[in-house]
Amino acid sequence: MARRTKVYEGKAKILYEGPEPGTYIQYFKDDATAFNAEKRDVIDGKGVLNNRLSEYFMVGLNTIGVPTHFIRRVNMREQLVRVVDMIPLEVVVRNIAAGSISKRLGIEEGTQLPRPIIEFYYKDDALGDPLVSEDHILAFGWATHQDLDDMVGLAARVNDFLSGVMTGVGIKLVDFKIEIGRIYEGDFQRLVVADEISPDSCRLWDAKTGQKLDKDVFRRDLGNLSEAYTEVARRLGVMPGNTTTMPKPKLMN
Ligand code: C5P
Repeated sequence: MARRTKVYEGKAKILYEGPEPGTYIQYFKDDATAFNAEKRDVIDGKGVLNNRLSEYFMVGLNTIGVPTHFIRRVNMREQLVRVVDMIPLEVVVRNIAAGSISKRLGIEEGTQLPRPIIEFYYKDDALGDPLVSEDHILAFGWATHQDLDDMVGLAARVNDFLSGVMTGVGIKLVDFKIEIGRIYEGDFQRLVVADEISPDSCRLWDAKTGQKLDKDVFRRDLGNLSEAYTEVARRLGVMPGNTTTMPKPKLMN
């Protein structure tokens, strides 16, 4: 057996060289980290759940014309993705105040925001991923004006899609983070949603009870993380171990 070439190992995923040029295999680990990896644990089955959930959301986005790096799921823990040139920013969209915006601005968690708020964080573990302004992004050349417009457009479309899907299964999409990469096509480049979309990178609250169904369960020691993610998967009809009956994402009007 030949050893695969590891391209990158992050906190929750590993990228290996893919079978064709321009592709990677994205492997989802069971590792959970929070607070810039100060808190860490291994949660059995988390990688399997996130692989399936991220597939579900990325397929849904591709279907409605929001480009992503996702090509196809390969097995329980791995998916084939396109190689992209990552923009070194985390793009956060917030519908309801929670987490760092509540702390920073003193807004009570659970407060409905007057409109979705988009924030950018510079991806740098050593700096703790600081919040940055569009001026920082332009001045330091992390992205251009056009990229910023495209990123805001992508973030808004992902928010509409995810909010609709979640509302349909009795879950409030409080906030989420996406990462965006560039794909070059001849003289053109295009931005696509990359990385993952999963309960690791979203805040998801049960619409009736307010129960948290996302990584805050781990961050705040609120119970069993894999049970929370399994509940999200169950509601969406995405159950690990049942690879043949995954329904297409429901689109909400
Ligand atoms: O911590 P904060 O409130 O800024 O997080 C906003 C959203 O972005 C949350 O859904 C959180 O899970 C996600 N996030 C992430 N990775 C980070 C920081 C935040 O997925 N490094």
